[in-house]
Amino acid sequence: MPFQQFSFHPKVVAGINALGYTTPTPIQAQAIPKIMAGHDLMGLAQTGTGKTAAFALPILHRLMQGPRKQVRALIIAPTRELAEQINDAVLELGQQTRLKSITVYGGVNVNPQIEKLKNGVEIVVACPGRLLDHISQGTIDLTNLELLVLDEADQMFDMGFLPDIRRILKHLPAQRQTMLFSATMPAEIRGLAREILRDPATVQVDHVAPAATVSHALYPVAQHLKTPLLMQLLKHTDTDSVLIFTRTKHRAKRVGEQLEKAGYTAASLQGNLSQNRRQAAMDGFRNGTYQILVATDIAARGIDVSQVSHVINYDIPDTSEAYIHRIGRTGRAARNGDAFTMVTDEDTIMVKAIERTLGAAIERRTVEGFDYSVAAPRKDDEFARPPRPPRNQPKAKKPAPKPAAGQGAAHAAAGSKPSGSKPAPAGGARHPQRTQRPR
Ligand code: AMP
Repeated sequence: MPFQQFSFHPKVVAGINALGYTTPTPIQAQAIPKIMAGHDLMGLAQTGTGKTAAFALPILHRLMQGPRKQVRALIIAPTRELAEQINDAVLELGQQTRLKSITVYGGVNVNPQIEKLKNGVEIVVACPGRLLDHISQGTIDLTNLELLVLDEADQMFDMGFLPDIRRILKHLPAQRQTMLFSATMPAEIRGLAREILRDPATVQVDHVAPAATVSHALYPVAQHLKTPLLMQLLKHTDTDSVLIFTRTKHRAKRVGEQLEKAGYTAASLQGNLSQNRRQAAMDGFRNGTYQILVATDIAARGIDVSQVSHVINYDIPDTSEAYIHRIGRTGRAARNGDAFTMVTDEDTIMVKAIERTLGAAIERRTVEGFDYSVAAPRKDDEFARPPRPPRNQPKAKKPAPKPAAGQGAAHAAAGSKPSGSKPAPAGGARHPQRTQRPR
């Protein structure tokens, strides 16, 4: 069904047309009629579903009637990036409406925000910390607020923002329409929804799930124990071919060398490879010469290895999409594949983001018999480059040449994988994770 069904104000329709939207997405088809009818709304949807327009369009439509130069709609988001993204969408969709929308978040000069608020705006997209500052300084007037959106509520909870949200709510008129969007529904968000939504309509769109044939798990580990844990995983897992992802080319090279030293046939797609050597590494992996290929996301682009039995994320990827993409390389065509991801404490936010995208928690595993208690070396130089020779030293002797080791494109070693059995399933230690609250 096309957008005409919603009978939006012509100026809002103009924005929809300008962006080239023709058909509402499922979340839009479900949510827009409810919001237009004045209901509070609980929206279970993640980024990428079109949820921003699902709330932005009815808000723009409603604001076309009524006074200007008063804050009538407030959208609260957990991060600056999301706030900017929402504001951009509102401005684009509302390009013909002459409604004003601004962002309000910390880490930037407050004065331009105060100036814009003074000049009069109808829509504010805010992060909780700076919004509270404005409220306490009296630089924002929310007494005329009609519409409130809490976007990515579960992420706000993860980031420790719920107390701020509750503080903000005390300053808003009770008579308002409230919409809460969240990708997942932890108990805290359910509780918040019960507190702030009145007889809400609930809409939900399906999650993006990885292939059902892939089983995946997280392996919490300290940074300095990643390589020993990798060795342990390989030793105790029945693997055919393994694709290992690292964050940098340097790390890919290093891990490739370590695997080679341990006796595996491994190649790494490292930096500065000629196309020929790159091809040789990939062909060698495809035809089984190399059991293991170590690569970065970029280096691994275009590899379609249908036989991959295991993907191991030595480093967690930067985005949920990259995670799904990486683990999608295994378990293709209904093969059973496994995907392991090593995570350190620093990966907490990324793990939460991935779980939100998947709509489910990922199992945490520990490897039985592995010594997690080994202390970090005083100087963790695992990935450090060899020290540079001192500069400007006359007659410095050249260092003796190193014995030739597996250098170049592919570090092929003739060793074979030690045989092993599947690891005994270990207890999934859930790490209660809370991170510092950015403002
Ligand atoms: P969101 O989930 O709100 O981040 O939206 C994801 C992307 O979908 C954005 O780039 C939107 O511009 C786009 N989008 C939203 N609604 C529609 C639609 N009905 N038709 C086509 N694209 C859309």
